[in-house]
Amino acid sequence: MKAFLPPIIFETMWIAKTKSHLKKQLNDCSQPVILVPTMGALHLGHAGLIDMARQRAGKSGTVIVSIFVNAIQFDNAGDFEKYPRPFDADITVCQLHGVDGVFAPGHNEMYFPDRSITVTEELLSKGLCGDTRPGHFDGVCTVVLKLFNLTRCDAAVFGEKDFQQLAIIRRLVRDLDLDVEIILHPTIREIDGLAMSSRNVRLLSGHRKDAPRIRKALLAAGEMTSAQQILDTARQEIEKSPYLKIDYLTLVDAETLSPAANLNTPTILACAVYYDDVRLIDHIGIRR
Ligand code: AMP
Repeated sequence: MKAFLPPIIFETMWIAKTKSHLKKQLNDCSQPVILVPTMGALHLGHAGLIDMARQRAGKSGTVIVSIFVNAIQFDNAGDFEKYPRPFDADITVCQLHGVDGVFAPGHNEMYFPDRSITVTEELLSKGLCGDTRPGHFDGVCTVVLKLFNLTRCDAAVFGEKDFQQLAIIRRLVRDLDLDVEIILHPTIREIDGLAMSSRNVRLLSGHRKDAPRIRKALLAAGEMTSAQQILDTARQEIEKSPYLKIDYLTLVDAETLSPAANLNTPTILACAVYYDDVRLIDHIGIRR
């Protein structure tokens, strides 16, 4: 008979649901503090970020995961309501990955009812996801700044999957002189190439089977030589799907995120698609 090995659970992990509880925990925690901001529904993509945070924190540093479904970054109330919130499972993931503390405030704890200040980024948030999700990146910048202040973190880990968000957060840090190092983690994918996302569980099974075509189409397009061929190939391949609708498919400069007409500078081929109301994003770098 096989021996049953229970998972090693780090019983010392704290969970702070209020700012004051978080503050008390921070008084005792050792440096450096590395934050992994998330909206929960943790999957292996998030776990990769947590492991990277641990590497950076070392054994004695502090890894904090924030779990907060940030209402002010949702442009669509339905999407916010339907966002998965498997809190107990998230706590288990954090324990299994040796997180020191979880900050999981409710909306009213995070925001005053008469909140009147929002952080707005005015350049990089135009275009791509910013076009279809008005106000989304203001919500992201506002919550990330608050999380940096509340956790007093030395560094924070973000996924490359959300490359527009990453570029905007780097701007936030630069333009507001925040003393937080931004650490990048490459996109983690399912075996079939689909980028892991908390939204994948909401795909109908036929849509889930179809979704790896997004990455395949981007990779096939990346083999082409001109910008126009790249865009045409990606569109043709993606549109072979009977299920999805393209939100955007575009080539942008990797740094400024402005439309790239040629391939003279590092360029990103990026897309967002809808399977019914489930919106998925992906991108690849084009190197010449
Ligand atoms: P979210 O919970 O969707 O707000 O994501 C929290 C963080 O995890 C963000 O920095 C995301 O970019 C990152 N992330 C989500 N999915 C992945 C993935 N598949 N690979 C790498 N990072 C990811």
